[in-house]
Amino acid sequence: MSAPAEQLQSKPIGWDGKTLIEMTEESKRLFEETGRYYGVEDLTLLRDQPILYEKIFSRLRGGLVNARSTALNISASPIVRELGELSFAIYTPEGDSIALSTGIIVHVHTMSDAIKYMIKHNYEQTPGIRDGFIFCNNNSMIGDVHTADVHTIIPIFHEDELVGWAAGVTHEVDVGGINPGSMCYGHADRYGDGILVSSELVGENDEFYEHYLQRCRECVRAEMYWVLDEKTRLTGAQMARRQVLRTISEVGLDTYKKFMREAIEEGRRTFLQRSKTMLVPGRYEAPSFTDLPWADDVNVHGQARKDMMMHAPLSMTVKGDGQVEMSFEGANKWDYHSFNCAPSPMQGAMWVQLTQTLWNSDKINDGAYFATDLKLPYGSWANPDWEKVSTTLTWFFLIPGWSGMIRSVGRSYFARGFLEDISASYCTSWNLMQGGGPNQYGVDGAFTNFEVSCGGTGALYVKDGETACAAMWNPEGDMGEVESWESMEPLLYLGRGVKPSSGGPGKYRGGTGSEALRMVYNTHAQTLFNGGEGHCFSSYGVYGGYPGCSGYRHNMHGSDMKKRIENGEPFPRLDGDPEDSQISALCEAEEENFDMKAIQGPKHFGEYDLYLSMNRGGPGLGDPLERDPRSVVHDVNIGHVLERFAKSLYGVEMTREGESFVLDEAATQKLRDSMRKKRLEQSVDAKEFFDQQRQRVINKDFIRPVRDMYASSMDLSSEWNEKFRKFWNLPADWSL
Ligand code: MN
Repeated sequence: MSAPAEQLQSKPIGWDGKTLIEMTEESKRLFEETGRYYGVEDLTLLRDQPILYEKIFSRLRGGLVNARSTALNISASPIVRELGELSFAIYTPEGDSIALSTGIIVHVHTMSDAIKYMIKHNYEQTPGIRDGFIFCNNNSMIGDVHTADVHTIIPIFHEDELVGWAAGVTHEVDVGGINPGSMCYGHADRYGDGILVSSELVGENDEFYEHYLQRCRECVRAEMYWVLDEKTRLTGAQMARRQVLRTISEVGLDTYKKFMREAIEEGRRTFLQRSKTMLVPGRYEAPSFTDLPWADDVNVHGQARKDMMMHAPLSMTVKGDGQVEMSFEGANKWDYHSFNCAPSPMQGAMWVQLTQTLWNSDKINDGAYFATDLKLPYGSWANPDWEKVSTTLTWFFLIPGWSGMIRSVGRSYFARGFLEDISASYCTSWNLMQGGGPNQYGVDGAFTNFEVSCGGTGALYVKDGETACAAMWNPEGDMGEVESWESMEPLLYLGRGVKPSSGGPGKYRGGTGSEALRMVYNTHAQTLFNGGEGHCFSSYGVYGGYPGCSGYRHNMHGSDMKKRIENGEPFPRLDGDPEDSQISALCEAEEENFDMKAIQGPKHFGEYDLYLSMNRGGPGLGDPLERDPRSVVHDVNIGHVLERFAKSLYGVEMTREGESFVLDEAATQKLRDSMRKKRLEQSVDAKEFFDQQRQRVINKDFIRPVRDMYASSMDLSSEWNEKFRKFWNLPADWSL
C-alpha cells in the first residue's frame, strides 16, 4: 500500500530541514573528520552549566528507570515481571543511545542498530515516520540478540521535528519456533526460529494494528504473554517519550539538542580516559571454546548431527589514546545449529561487559561505541555469511566467547595495580531449561526458566565469588520464586539448593552455583531441552585458579516416583555429588541419561520424569594451595565444597567433630609441603613443554572436533592461519 502523495512530498523530519539519512551522513562525516562525536569539540553545556547538564541527565535516566519499574507490572511473564528481563533507552534522531534504564542493557546497542536500519532503508519515505507510529523488531540480522528479544521503537517528535527515539525490549516466553520455549534449537536454519518481525510498522496513533496482534497470537505459543509484553514495552517507551518532552519543555529544545551531542561525546571521552587510566596499551589474547556433542543426538537435524567445537580466539588491543579493539579473527565457521550470532549481539555483549568493568559510571551511552572497534570475521559463527542461519540461542557461543575479555581486562588491571578490580571472569549461564507442551491448565504452554540468570560469580583478586546471583547479560540477577515458575511450568520443584564444588578452586574460589531437581507433573507430555557445556570448560580461572565446574545431564525417564510418593518412600531432592548421586540412589527409571552431553536437542518427557537443572559456578583465582585452610574447612561445613576435594585440591586435612569438620593444621602443612614437592618433581621446563605440544600439533594429534574447528578457522582466516603457524613454528607443508 503506497502512502498518499501529499505525505510523500512532506518535508523532511530531521533538524534544519534535513532528512534522517542526511543527518546520519553528516554525523558519520563529522566523526571521520574530527574523531569526535558529531564533531563536538567544546562541551560548553557541561562546562558552563554543569548543574543543568547533570540535571538533564538525571531526569532522563530517572525517567527510564521509572518507565522500566512501572511497565514491568503490565507483563504476566515471570521473566519480565520478576526477573526484570527488560530495558528502555532513548536515542538521538540518528539512533545513537543517550541514556538507558537498568535491566538487560545488552540491548541498548541492538536497538540502536534497529533504528539505524530503518533510517538506512529510508523509512522516512516509506512507511513514513510520524508521531504515534510504533515499530517492532526481533530480527538479529537487523539489530537484536535473538528472536526471543522483541523491541518496540517509537519516534519522539517536538512539533514537526524528530528529536529522537524511545525504545524498549523484553525477552519473550515463546516465539513460535519449531519447538516450544523461547530459544529452541535442534533445527537446521532460520525457518525453524519462529515469528520474525523485521523493524516493521505495527501501529499508529499509539495503538497497535489489530492485524499485527492477531498475527502474533496465531504465531506463538502462550500468546497471552506475548500480547501483554507488547503493551509492557509500548507503555515504557511512551513514558520515556513523555519524559523527553517534559525535559524539553523545561530546558528548551536547543539545550536538549546540545545535551544529546555532548552527552555522547562526553561518554566517548570518559571511556578513553578510563581506558588510559586502567589499562596498559598492548595486545591481550584470551581464547575460549565450547562443545557441541551432537554426533549421536537423534533429536537434532541431520545436518547438525556431528561433534562440534566453538572457537573464539578473542584478542583485545588497547591503543595509546585509550581506543580499545576487540577481534574475533580466527573464529570458526557458522553451522546448521542455532548458536550462530549476528554482529549486533556481539556489539551488545561487548557493550554490556564494558559497562560492568571498565566503564562503571552511571552515565552510560553510545559513547563507548565510538571509542571501541569490533572485528568479526565474515563467514564465522559471529558474523555469518548466510542470512538464513538459525540464531535462536546466540548466547550459547556468545557467552563463553566473551569470557576472555574479563580475563584480559583483569591482566591489564594487574599491570596497573588496580588489584581489587580484577575478576577471574564470569561463569557461563547454564543450564538453560526450557520447553513446553500441554500444561497443567490443559492448554498448550511454553516456558524458559530464568534461574539461569543466577550463576556463581568469578573470584576477585581479594575475595571469593558470590553464590548463585549473576549473569553476564543482565547485571540484575534474580532466580525468581519457585512458586512463580511452578505456576507457569508443569514441573514441580523437588528441591533447589547450592551445587557443591561448582565454584572454581583457587586461593579465592569462584562463587558456587545452584541446582534444581524438577519432576514433570500434571501433564502427560513435555518437550524439554538441556543447555550448557559439558566436555570443556568455557570460562577459565586466572593466576593458577581453576575453572568452575562444567555441566552434565542427569534425567530420569519412566521413573518410579509415582510409586514412591504413593508409598511415602524417600525420593531425591537434589543430585548433590554426581559421584555419589542422590538421584540414582533414590530413584529408579527405565531410562537414565547421566552423561556430559549437557546440550541436547528437544526431548520428550512424561509425567513423573525427573530433570536436573544445574547452574554453573564462577571461575577461581590464584593457587588453591594458597587458600586459607580455615576457609576450605568452612566451605566443606556449609556444603559449598565436597569433602574429598578439601584434600585432593586444597591440601587440607580435617578431622570430624560431631556434625562438622575441624582443621588439622599440622597435617595440612605437611600435606601442602608434599604436594608442592610433587609439583616440582612433575614439572617440566617451559621450553620442553612447548616442544612436546608442538610435536602434537605437527602430528595433528587432535580429536576430530578440535581438528575440524582449527581447519575451519584456517580456512576462513589467512591471518589467523599465519598466526597459528608462526606461534607453533610449523613446517611450510603442514596443513589440516
Ligand atoms: Mn533474550
